[in-house]
Amino acid sequence: MWVDDLKSLQRDRLIGRDFLFFPEIDSTNREARDRARKGAGEGTVILADYQSHGRGRLGRTWESPSGANIYLSVILRPPIPPPAAPQITLLAGVSAARALSHVSGLECRIKWPNDILVRGKKLAGILAEMEAEGSDTRFIILGIGVNVNWGKEDFPPGLRETATSLRAEKGKEIPRAAAAAGLLRELEAEYVSFLREGFSARLRDDWNRLSGVNGKQVTLQSPQGTFSGRALGLDSDGALLVLDGEGSTRRFIAGEVSLRMENSNF
Ligand code: ADP
Repeated sequence: MWVDDLKSLQRDRLIGRDFLFFPEIDSTNREARDRARKGAGEGTVILADYQSHGRGRLGRTWESPSGANIYLSVILRPPIPPPAAPQITLLAGVSAARALSHVSGLECRIKWPNDILVRGKKLAGILAEMEAEGSDTRFIILGIGVNVNWGKEDFPPGLRETATSLRAEKGKEIPRAAAAAGLLRELEAEYVSFLREGFSARLRDDWNRLSGVNGKQVTLQSPQGTFSGRALGLDSDGALLVLDGEGSTRRFIAGEVSLRMENSNF
């Protein structure tokens, strides 16, 4: 069973030392949040084979069919102030892009703030949800969904043009245990360096190298309005810098902001 392989690979690690598998669940992020509220430790991983109510950002749905993909959530308890929480999404993007490129040989790119794309199509999504108490972050639930062996013929019609899977791109199955183990290993390495160094220049440079948006014309939608310009990359604190036609640069923090690329040819 792929989950047993994965559990044994995670032994002695920070992320995955407590490992809970659900054949079926509503949402791994919901389960992780409830457990974190009851005191579950940092590094607890909730993994499911199927989600009936997989979630994306801003109330969107994450399609989560059974038997093919990875749906997991990790409980993190970083000692950071709540406004720094989006940096966790950025480090997760670097970890996921690197791990998925490595396991598949595909060129995986990050679409700010929270998607992993291959050839412009969505392969994986990241959903970080924070719970704070005053100026303290109580915990962050980091949810990651990866389309691994989902067959193109099984994609819902609405996703056929915009989504992809490792199998759809490679034309062969990729073992889920290897993909998930690689993901958790990269995540642990990046998280441990983040705890030591914070959002470092090295992490920002890695993100910028893996970015699929830098240099592209983008449109950002936030509760404050719509803004178009050329994405320049991340600032030293993780904000996305965007240059408009008049030469002024704006900063965007992941949160309630959606980004669209004008030309989706990556
Ligand atoms: P956005 O990319 O707009 O920030 P999210 O990251 O919240 O959106 O992801 C949710 C969106 O991703 C859905 O509205 C849908 O368009 C798309 N989607 C849902 N499930 C999947 C999936 N398994 N693979 C790829 N894309 C998906």
